[in-house]
Amino acid sequence: MSADLFKDIVSHSKEYGFIFQSSEIYDGLSGVYDYGSYGVELKNNIKAYWWKAMVQNHENIVGLDSAIMMHPLIWKASGHVDAFNDPLVDSKASQKRYRADVMIEEALEKIMAKADKEIEKARKRFGDAFDENKYKTENPRVAEYIQQYNTINQKFVDAMGKGDMPALKAVIEELEIADPVSGSREWTDVRQFNLMFHTQLGNIAGEEGKLYLRPETAQGIFVNFLNVQKTTRQKLPFGIAQIGKAFRNEIIARQFIFRMREFEQMEMQYFVQPGTEMEWYNYWKETRMKWHRALGTPESKLRFHDHENLAHYANAAVDVQFDFPFGFKELEGVHSRTDFDLRSHQELSGKKLQYFDPETNESYVPYVVETSVGLDRMFLALLSNAYTEENVPDADGKDSTRIVLKFHPALAPVKCAILPLLKNNDDLTGLARKIFDDLKFNFLCQYDEKDAIGRRYRRQDAIGTPYCVTIDHQSLEDQTVTIRERDTLKQERIHMSKIREIVADGIDFRHLFA
Ligand code: ATP
Repeated sequence: MSADLFKDIVSHSKEYGFIFQSSEIYDGLSGVYDYGSYGVELKNNIKAYWWKAMVQNHENIVGLDSAIMMHPLIWKASGHVDAFNDPLVDSKASQKRYRADVMIEEALEKIMAKADKEIEKARKRFGDAFDENKYKTENPRVAEYIQQYNTINQKFVDAMGKGDMPALKAVIEELEIADPVSGSREWTDVRQFNLMFHTQLGNIAGEEGKLYLRPETAQGIFVNFLNVQKTTRQKLPFGIAQIGKAFRNEIIARQFIFRMREFEQMEMQYFVQPGTEMEWYNYWKETRMKWHRALGTPESKLRFHDHENLAHYANAAVDVQFDFPFGFKELEGVHSRTDFDLRSHQELSGKKLQYFDPETNESYVPYVVETSVGLDRMFLALLSNAYTEENVPDADGKDSTRIVLKFHPALAPVKCAILPLLKNNDDLTGLARKIFDDLKFNFLCQYDEKDAIGRRYRRQDAIGTPYCVTIDHQSLEDQTVTIRERDTLKQERIHMSKIREIVADGIDFRHLFA
């Protein structure tokens, strides 16, 4: 997808009430966004899809809504106070600030892309006789790219693992990374930057009163592990799911709602018997990928990406990446978190966080497999997938272009538009209103009588409404209406008593679980 198309998506989101820059009249607050009237509907529908898939469809997964502010020791135990850092570096020439790890990853990807390009060329040249592995080792240029990638990547992984900032700087120099703004290769030292926002309790001064805004929802789940397990009488394995806000003081918050300072996560922690975690890790990896694919996202736009840099709490981690307008990036993380969190909370709080296993008569600290998807990133993925410009015949049969958001109907913000053919005809508008009033309890409908019918269709296409119902003169005689389907543009005349059934079936979440 081109940069232009990304710009089109961003401006479409604003023009059609999906997303606004926060505090826009004060020139905005960077990395923070507000969701408009259609945005909030889409967001709620994504949450509903996730909740149905996780909580409603699994007898052994239950929900939770824990607070954003928590005891500050929680962030000490979780490792966030000491280790939730990103390495930052400034260009001396432009004073622009960057994340060192992100810059390095991008530069490494470029080296790999060069090798891939040569390989693809050779594949075309040699056809069926092509032996990729042989070519990789025997073609000197390709072998050199691969070796360069492997050597530098190893240095990068080691530096990240040890938190060795001078070594990271050396990798930047070795890769000859230049500041995209000034072209300069003059960099400051790389330093660690903690991503947690903090605030102060009113009645306690100093460090003790320092509170953090949660940088992930997961810890609220861990510290409630026993409360939830006991009150819901769950046996292992079982999961706790939560949707909520998280805050990170991102060094650079660019790329629209991809990287925000205030965002929402949909997280599920699955508590398992120690030793079974890899089995469950693989199960959740596949299950989550199915969830994404069910939305109709083309397979070529989703892929797994294994972590080489494991976080301090994980023994295995994979990202589900989506092909965003700016390339493949993380959409969701599946992590095997071992017993790191529960054990640390147990140690620091002095309270037992153990599960009594009635089958083995033993108590132990469970292991955890986590699935964590960013709601806003999911929103952006769906929007970029749905956004389509196409040529279609207009009302007079002439060619015209339309912008249509082809959301899965279950997720579409407005489900059905009710359109009387003429505005100045009380009989038509009266009947249309009656239909609207009857359907509004079932789904979000929109009544629209302004402008020619073609323009009203375009407005609904632009927000992704799957069904438009038109009331015309014939409707007054035989109670039939036409129903138009967004993607196929097929129009069918049906009895008005059938509208509810057709729309309800079309937007049913069941189709996503088929
Ligand atoms: P990244 O490497 O992109 O910073 P992360 O690995 O730190 O992401 P996790 O801590 O695994 O992310 O968080 C889980 C999910 O939360 C991510 O997959 C992503 O969808 C979402 N997320 C994380 N940070 C942000 C952010 N700043 N803005 C929007 N969504 C985010």
